[in-house]
Amino acid sequence: MNSIILGIESTAHTAGVGIITSEGKILSNQRSMYIPEEGGIHPREAARHHSDIFPVLFDKAFKEANLKPSEISLVSYARGPGLGPCLRTGATAARAFAYSHEIPLIGVNHCVAHLEIGLLEGATDPVLLYLSGANTQVIAYASEKYRVFGETIDIGIGNGLDKFAREAGMGFPGGPKIEKLAKGPELLDLPYSVKGMDMAFSGLMTAAKSKLDSGHPIETVTYSLQENAFAMSCEVAERALAHTGKTELVLGGGVACNERLREMATIMTEERGVKCFIPSKDLCVDNGVMIGWLGYQMVNGDYKITEEDNRVHQKYRTDMVEVTWR
Ligand code: AMP
Ligand code: MG
Repeated sequence: MNSIILGIESTAHTAGVGIITSEGKILSNQRSMYIPEEGGIHPREAARHHSDIFPVLFDKAFKEANLKPSEISLVSYARGPGLGPCLRTGATAARAFAYSHEIPLIGVNHCVAHLEIGLLEGATDPVLLYLSGANTQVIAYASEKYRVFGETIDIGIGNGLDKFAREAGMGFPGGPKIEKLAKGPELLDLPYSVKGMDMAFSGLMTAAKSKLDSGHPIETVTYSLQENAFAMSCEVAERALAHTGKTELVLGGGVACNERLREMATIMTEERGVKCFIPSKDLCVDNGVMIGWLGYQMVNGDYKITEEDNRVHQKYRTDMVEVTWR
């Protein structure tokens, strides 16, 4: 049967409502990002943005998909990981919609959703290089779980870029602004911190800021910053490919919108003879479609919805999920 799934995302700054069919046809992908007036994300303010915008996103999604709520057969929302107030807002919207229309409700892991949307792109058993604001992980399936093969040991790569940009007076989100400025041509000497399979970005961002303060042009600093941060990420991804013997790489997360990162990952995978799947930017960033798609994979597999699905989980790690649907 071709069923239709509603996916709801609210783990951090983005509220998303997506509608996708069980065959993988995307009917709508509505998103709205909370942008703080100054400073970083304030969880309660982000949550307020989400609760204000959800009715609008629902409305737009159903209009675009040309559907009635009663035509939805599953509601899937991101249980975690994420910011408590934001998660609770999405969960409340999901519960209200599911219960009022008597539709089953499932809660899914946000990071796993970034990986599984790569399967929609044609990957079958990939390594995911997941580079977002708060999350920086290299994930792959092994023995009933999605395992974290490497990750940041301090801040997420996107948060690091945002912090550098904020301190350099560029505003939020910083990643795209850094990308526009990053022209080189000189490659400055900055920390390159790969420790085992893990990465550290904090020192890199601080060092980049002091290069800027000591008079290096912003084009050179942002270029060097990107080169180091992305090379570190690609190195860990490549070693995860070597270690697992997998032959597919998927990119995910907002930072995966970056053209230089995409280019580096493409070069690395070509040199290894591995396929590289790069979802469209709409599907790399946080979105409801990937949440709906994962929810459907789970119920279509052996996953049994339980009471737990009703509860958000701020620290819901990738490797806590029992993968019963593969
Ligand atoms: P996410 O948390 O996955 O929604 O991603 C948000 C993060 O992606 C923010 O930290 C942004 O600065 C970052 N980001 C978005 N677009 C780009 C880009 N083109 N280059 C680098 N970082 C980006
Ligand atoms: Mg994300």
